[in-house]
Amino acid sequence: MSRKKVYIAYTGGTIGMKESSSGYIPEKGYLQSYLAAKRVLDDPAMPSFDICEYDPLLDSANMGSEHWDTIARDIADHYQDYDGFIVIHGTDTMAYTASALPFLLQGLAKPVVVTGSQIPLHKTRNDGYENLIASLMVAAHHQIPEVILLFGSRILRGCRAVKVDAFGLEAFDSPNFPALGHIGINIELHKEYIQTAQNIPFHVQSLKKQHVGILRLFPGITADYARNVLRAPLQGVVLETFGQGNAPDNNKALIGALKEAADRGVVIVNITQCLRGTVNQKTYAAGQILEDIGVIGGLDMTPNAALVKMYYLLSQDFSMQEIYNKMRQSLCGELTSVISL
Ligand code: ASP
Repeated sequence: MSRKKVYIAYTGGTIGMKESSSGYIPEKGYLQSYLAAKRVLDDPAMPSFDICEYDPLLDSANMGSEHWDTIARDIADHYQDYDGFIVIHGTDTMAYTASALPFLLQGLAKPVVVTGSQIPLHKTRNDGYENLIASLMVAAHHQIPEVILLFGSRILRGCRAVKVDAFGLEAFDSPNFPALGHIGINIELHKEYIQTAQNIPFHVQSLKKQHVGILRLFPGITADYARNVLRAPLQGVVLETFGQGNAPDNNKALIGALKEAADRGVVIVNITQCLRGTVNQKTYAAGQILEDIGVIGGLDMTPNAALVKMYYLLSQDFSMQEIYNKMRQSLCGELTSVISL
């Protein structure tokens, strides 16, 4: 039987970094020489793979929406020639990229595994080697028509993942959706949670530059502060609220600033600051006020997913009503519609 083929888009991250006088920086060519020295291809259970090293390799703190677009196009350009894909990425903004790719890669029928590590490969003790080998196996041999984030012992849906630990090797979690799989002695998939391939031909959507942002409420927030964030040319904002989606409804000036922005056509989506749980703007008067001024309840989306979805929806030719409706629908498994709206 011929070996499966995996395409690796190597964007950067700690995994291939070395120390420099200003701290860790990515080193060109290191990942390839490391894998060659380990003779990864000698094991017949392993797929063959090609690595496309991006230039420049980036610390993922330096990545923006244009990089999500580049990665999606790169995968699309090689889609027919490979059985699966790996995106090697820094952990800092990995959850944003893993959230963005499912919106851009439509009709996906092959696995796209986003991975990286907390400790560089060149350290004797590191998590990069295990993450890479498991990613190669999953990308080649498992039926997962989704963008997934593989890290430590878990396989998570990309658009549900968040980075929760700056030091630990289980750096990611999926607080509102079960893991799609676990990596232990065996790689076990939880098939009941894995999406079936969409019945549409594979194609890539692109992103245009958008003015979007995040406004996180805090006790004592002023209308001026909010107005500064919300002013033109802002087109969309993720409003991070308290608990089930509440804001200080006794702060009329703040609510007025939010209403002014909503009336100007700024898309405002309400996401909870809590790690787990869903927004229901109808539970409290402090949430209903947001519903009344046109804020969209973002259910249980992560802030990462809500932000990238905003980029995606604003980049398409949707009307405001369509954006409003789609923001509350699951487009690629990014939210659970469990409450009646
Ligand atoms: N700063 C690094 C990055 O995100 C962190 C990592 O990869 O773990 O590129």
